Amino acid sequence: RAKIYHRAAYCYFTREMGVEIRERVRMMHALRTAFEDERLFVVYQPQIDMRNGKPFGAEALLRWRTEDGDLISPDKFIPIAEYSGLIVSIGEWVLRTACYELDKILKSGIKEFRISVNVSQAQFTHPLFLQVIERVLADTKIPPECLELEITESMAMADLEVLTLTLGKIKSKGVRISIDDFGTGFSSLSHLQKLNVDKLKIDRAFINEITSGTNEGSITKMIIQLAQSLHLEVIAEGVENLEQANYLLQFGCYQAQGFLYAKPQNKVDFHAWLHDHQ
Ligand code: C2E
Ligand code: MG
Ligand code: MG
Ligand code: MG
Repeated sequence: RAKIYHRAAYCYFTREMGVEIRERVRMMHALRTAFEDERLFVVYQPQIDMRNGKPFGAEALLRWRTEDGDLISPDKFIPIAEYSGLIVSIGEWVLRTACYELDKILKSGIKEFRISVNVSQAQFTHPLFLQVIERVLADTKIPPECLELEITESMAMADLEVLTLTLGKIKSKGVRISIDDFGTGFSSLSHLQKLNVDKLKIDRAFINEITSGTNEGSITKMIIQLAQSLHLEVIAEGVENLEQANYLLQFGCYQAQGFLYAKPQNKVDFHAWLHDHQ
């Protein structure tokens, strides 16, 4: 009986797997076509200094509009881009697009603005990544310290030696590094102390906990204190209400990104928004 059960389970598993693989391959082709046909675009979500309500930067976020006009969430297609290797060329395009946008912002009279760009592990560990950064900086002529790369905590906690080397090279260009979704990975505090990063980005889940009744934001408080003791900047992601904003201010986190202030916007709306909020 155990044997029959086992075989049945096995067949079920492969059939499901077949469907999943076919779907992934279909998405992969569709994504490549969308990239070639320029149906990927970048939106920008402002980052705010909550002490004065002023935007000081923005995060570039990728969007995919299908031929039918539907938007596909990056949470769905970024894994496909990573799995297929497409993320290397797509990611380079996002970086370039975001830096050009920043150049336009700086030239439109807004000073000291920063742009944050998400970077996947495959890009970060790619042998040509540093050259890509150098080329984009040279082409767009933006000040390197106005560019911030967001890496995830799991990446930051991988091979320390390789990571330190890559980070060191990026940092020597003047580009800033932040750790995205902080608190959701397996942080080694000793790694964190050794890594030359500039900023921690508190994951939205912990900001949500401030008002959801779970733990009363104790993890958020802890991350703010950690950032303070390591002399790192800290930003809260997914701030949706004033109670969360006040909590963050009370414990010394002044930077925020969230729907309370602004949603991600296409470049035209974003420029208009920025000039309205000076
Ligand atoms: P992330 O880097 O952690 O980006 C923040 C996500 O939180 C964005 O989702 C943003 O729209 C959302 N968000 C911001 N404020 C709020 C809020 O107040 N409430 C809620 N409910 N959500 C908020 P989005 O744009 O769907 O992106 C999801 C993830 O996809 C990103 O998470 C990032 O990991 C990945 N991603 C997006 N663009 C890129 C890219 O160009 N390259 C790479 N490698 N990953 C990207
Ligand atoms: Mg991010
Ligand atoms: Mg995040
Ligand atoms: Mg995230």
